[in-house]
Amino acid sequence: MIELKSMFPEELEAFLVSLGEPKFRAKQIFSWMTKGAVGFGEMRNIPQALRDKLAQTATVNSLKLLKKQTSASDGTTKYLWELRDGNAVETVVMRYDHGMTVCISSQVGCRQGCAFCASTIGGLVRNLTAAEMLDEVLFSQLDQGGKISNIVIMGIGEPLDNYDEVLRFLRLVNLPEGLNIGMRHIALSTCGLTEGIEKLARENLQITLALSLHAPDDETRTRLMPANRGRGIAEVIRACESYFAATGRRITFEYAMINGVNDSPAQAEKLAELARRVKAHINLIPLNHVEEREFAPSAPERMRAFCKILTDRGANFTIRRSLGGDVDASCGQLRRKRELEKSE
Ligand code: SAH
Repeated sequence: MIELKSMFPEELEAFLVSLGEPKFRAKQIFSWMTKGAVGFGEMRNIPQALRDKLAQTATVNSLKLLKKQTSASDGTTKYLWELRDGNAVETVVMRYDHGMTVCISSQVGCRQGCAFCASTIGGLVRNLTAAEMLDEVLFSQLDQGGKISNIVIMGIGEPLDNYDEVLRFLRLVNLPEGLNIGMRHIALSTCGLTEGIEKLARENLQITLALSLHAPDDETRTRLMPANRGRGIAEVIRACESYFAATGRRITFEYAMINGVNDSPAQAEKLAELARRVKAHINLIPLNHVEEREFAPSAPERMRAFCKILTDRGANFTIRRSLGGDVDASCGQLRRKRELEKSE
């Protein structure tokens, strides 16, 4: 099936012209897609014959809601969607005072193998298409009944391992006639695929780059994140520096605090030093416990000592508020549960 939502307006026009249709049909269809039409049947200003013809080869809808859970305490909503091939991905909507942020998945599964993460347990199944990522934003927004103001690509998958479709998604979601979400309101999180970071720097988009650092020394980082092997922190940091130089956008370091693994005073010193060099903002995340994994979140006193060193060194950091704890809102947990249920 041809996914019309993955097309830029000029591609959609060319597609309709190739069917012998006038160009203006593209605008009409684009507008229906942006409103959330799930089939051609709804497109009242499109002639029936064309609707029938399109329905045979093309689609405007890639997701079906499988499950929705809303946190009783903070209103965080987690969606589990079924894709047309039967796979499933997750999207989370978080409500803040300044608006709604949607956290989207970029792949079904992941092949990066981070030792603390639930999304990578079954490996990579496939990349998501731009249309599927757009639908994550669109259908969450329609369900929430308010405007999504920010997007973070921090759900299942490694976005820079799906570079072309993610870039297409970014440009489509940014279109004024589409969802119209500004690049400065979008953050992309990566485990540190340096080639991808350097390529992204050259696109010169105004998105925020978040690096999942999680350890300031190569020994610990490689143990936690196989993607560090063969690259090393020095190379990843160089790529972040070129991103900052090209875009002027400050990098964020994500750092999941893992008890006795990456939370020593010496590691705090090193982290502060790296952040100072790159002018990065540090986002400390209390580790979410994943059943299959051996790691535990840092004990409160270790966390306090770590933060004190960061403060003393003048590092710029925040501790991420944990939302949606009662709805399995962290990466890959719902999809993982479904996989387990299916195999029972
Ligand atoms: N692949 C990308 C984006 C997806 S994960 C990346 O690696 O950045 C989004 C963030 O959640 C990453 O920083 C990831 O390392 C982190 N994460 C994964 N599992 C986690 C867990 N159990 N607890 C806390 N953070 C976790």
